[in-house]
Amino acid sequence: MTWQDAKDALARAELAIIPTGSFEQHGPHMTFEVDSARAYAFGKLLAERLYPRVVLAPPIAFGVSYHHMAFPGTITLRPDTFQSIVYDVVWSLREHGIQQFLLVNGHGGNKPSLDVTAVRLRHELGVRVAWSSFTMLASEVKKARVKSEVTGHACEGETSQALYLAPHVVKRERITRGATKGYPYKLLGKGNNSGIVVPFTFDEITDNGALGDATLASAELGKELIDAALGKAVEFLTDFMDKNAHARSRRGVKAIDA
Ligand SMILES: [Zn+2]
Repeated sequence: MTWQDAKDALARAELAIIPTGSFEQHGPHMTFEVDSARAYAFGKLLAERLYPRVVLAPPIAFGVSYHHMAFPGTITLRPDTFQSIVYDVVWSLREHGIQQFLLVNGHGGNKPSLDVTAVRLRHELGVRVAWSSFTMLASEVKKARVKSEVTGHACEGETSQALYLAPHVVKRERITRGATKGYPYKLLGKGNNSGIVVPFTFDEITDNGALGDATLASAELGKELIDAALGKAVEFLTDFMDKNAHARSRRGVKAIDA
């Protein structure tokens, strides 16, 4: 887009989609940009479905990735930096008239920052904001179709998504199983549901940077996962925009009265 294109798009759009990703190792078979490429591609599909009510921002292509720093090439932002970038992108688009936002997140390490930032954006800037780690929207398909015992990174599910959404990030001839070692502390189980949180690093839990069994991945499975997530995201956003358009016009009336 040029600024003239953007002027037209921003005048008709109610909501901006902002993809958030990372630049981090993804095992022996995928490149650093996986999370950013998936989030951007998902954002594009979502924007196509909801055109002309939404605009798509460029992806925030770095995230919070300390836990992958043992693997050469990974670049991390400090949580403060990541939060500031998200905040400033939203602030800028709000200056251009957008009042509603969906952050489409492709990277688990960004979640705590997105939680904090969404609260700040709502209460400091007065915008309506939601964020989604969109893979979670496909949990039913994942439960039914993904066979690996362990998932979560460069795994069967993520590699399938990448094969469908951004095949250029996958080196097919190098696809291999994760060399998973398990979490170091007994009570943690799979590391995220025990009620105890210990920040861990990926070299502590896998030797090759991958989890699960990516040899089971396919573009077909990726499409199933993404179609399911897309359906839910479209349903949510339509409802979100309908309800917040009303809230905004009420606020607008108040402002005029004042
Ligand atoms: Zn990833």
